[in-house]
Amino acid sequence: MRDESGEPPGSSGAGPGPRGRHVIIAIDGPAGAGKSTIARHLARQFGLLNLETGAMYRAFALKALRAGLPLDQSRGLEALAATTAIRLEPGVEENRVLLDGEDVTRLIRSQMVTDAASRVSVFPAIRAWMVSLQQQLGAQGGVVMEGRDIGTVVFPQAEVKIFLDAAPEVRGMRRFDQLGPGAPIQPEAVLRELRARDERDRNRADSPLRPAPDAVLLDSTHMTLEEAVEAAGHIVAARLGEPT
Ligand code: C5P
Repeated sequence: MRDESGEPPGSSGAGPGPRGRHVIIAIDGPAGAGKSTIARHLARQFGLLNLETGAMYRAFALKALRAGLPLDQSRGLEALAATTAIRLEPGVEENRVLLDGEDVTRLIRSQMVTDAASRVSVFPAIRAWMVSLQQQLGAQGGVVMEGRDIGTVVFPQAEVKIFLDAAPEVRGMRRFDQLGPGAPIQPEAVLRELRARDERDRNRADSPLRPAPDAVLLDSTHMTLEEAVEAAGHIVAARLGEPT
């Protein structure tokens, strides 16, 4: 659980967003709800940095897979975490993810890593480590942070919290479409995997996926992603007291 390159806490923090803002916007919700797309647009619209916390769990999961560790035993994972450095660098389109200095941005998107990330994220010691890294990253504000527990655990004091949701079938089809033509997986299998991840995320003992009491719920089941982006923009503007 090495700190990012040994820097003092907060030094790797995002700082004020490009327009000098210090707000924190927390976007939580299940897989395929549109969090990444919406977070990216909000960051651009409000001059903030976009941080995808799922990428950090994914990077650690990749390391655990490479080490051949059983993913259901906390002790080995904790030992591995003690010698792991994960760094998230905000970019315009997506975050760059560095695992022990290696750029793993592309590698962490595979189905195997996706599944492994949801397994390693149930363990409290792993979560505590990730939460502390994420708090350092967002300490100075100016961020849209996206994940499962941002509004409830990482930044309960966030100025704006949105909990995104959509029917599982809709989320499954969005995920399938994202994989693009020729993906070696059927839509039914994507939906099965998504339901299994939902189940784990919602039922784990530590920081289960659920809306913060003060989160605004946005259900995009009957919306296009463009409409959901627009609705999220209105929610943020209203909370920040800005015209849209
Ligand atoms: O958001 P993404 O699909 O990249 O997240 C991968 C996995 O990491 C999720 O299925 C979830 O189990 C875990 N995760 C988490 N808490 C977060 C972000 C992601 O438990 N804040």
